[in-house]
Order: sequence, then C-alpha cells, then structure tokens
Amino acid sequence: MAEAQRTLVLIKPDAVQRELVGEIVGRFERKGLKTVGMKMTNLDEATLTEHYGHLKDKPFFGDLKKFMMQTPVIAMVLEGYDIIEVVRVIVGATNPRKADAGTIRSDLSMNVPSNIIHASDSLEASATEIKRFFKDDELFTYEMLTDKFHFGEGV
Ligand code: UDP
Ligand code: MG
Repeated sequence: MAEAQRTLVLIKPDAVQRELVGEIVGRFERKGLKTVGMKMTNLDEATLTEHYGHLKDKPFFGDLKKFMMQTPVIAMVLEGYDIIEVVRVIVGATNPRKADAGTIRSDLSMNVPSNIIHASDSLEASATEIKRFFKDDELFTYEMLTDKFHFGEGV
C-alpha cells in the first residue's frame, strides 16, 4: 500500500493581499489532501535566505526576499500519497504565463515573483522545509471520515 507523505506550502504575500487564501486552500481540500498544519507567519530575512538558498546568486534574490516579507504568509503542511508530485501539478510551473491552464499559478497569476504559492520540490526538501516553518506540536495526526476515499488500497 502507498504511504502518506507530507509537503510544505507557502501562500505568498500576493495571494494574501489579493484575498485568494480561501480559493487556494479550497483547491487542496477539494482534491482530497489532508491539512496537518496551518498558520499565518511573518518571514524574516534569515529564514528566506535559507529557504531560497538555491537562488542566492540570482539577480532577483533581494527582490524575492523583499516580496516575501510584504505581508505575513500562510504556511501549510499537506498530507497525501505522492504528495510532492500531486501538489506541484496543482501549483503549476514557476512562470505563471507558461503554467498549464487549470493550475493555481496559471489560473490566478501573471508574473514572478508574485506567483501565489511555494511548494516543496522533493521529499528531502519537504522534510527540511516543514522543520523550518513548523514545530512538532504544530503538526497534527488525525482521522477524517473522508480518509476512506483518499487513502487505502487502490492503484
Ligand atoms: N523567481 C523569480 N524570478 C525568477 C525565478 C523565480 O522571482 O526568474 C521566484 C518565484 O517567486 C519562484 C521563486 O523565486 O516561485 C523560487 O524559485 P524556484 O526556481 O524554486 O521555483 P518554484 O519552485 O517556486 O516553482
Ligand atoms: Mg522551488
């Protein structure tokens, strides 16, 4: 049987300012992903330097960090089978003008860095990123009546 895995999502300041938080959370809920952590938090420069460390030599690094500090963000941990791939498919490509129609980035945004959402790109990254934003007691394990649809034997 498949094993449930976790990923980290950040709903970015453009989405918070454009009042799209409910829309985005709703898409994940309707898909059948389980929310096991969720909070609003301000990101500081040190956290962002770590989080976007792979981009530290890019010319847009400073602007990206400033953008991410404009307002609080919503941090979420989502659980499901093949969670990294499932969430990245729902999120869409980094450039919203190239993202597939139907994805969050394609449907709701037009530019970078304001592409609405961050999602971990591997299980290794998600383990690090979840620890970066959540304490152990901010993550929850619980049963839902709908688990029978989304977990268990199948393909
Ligand atoms: N970004 C940017 N300019 C670029 C590429 C990326 O401002 O040319 C921002 C954008 O917000 C993106 C984030 O940097 O989501 C992280 O980039 P990454 O390559 O990790 O893309 P992601 O994993 O978010 O799709
Ligand atoms: Mg990335």
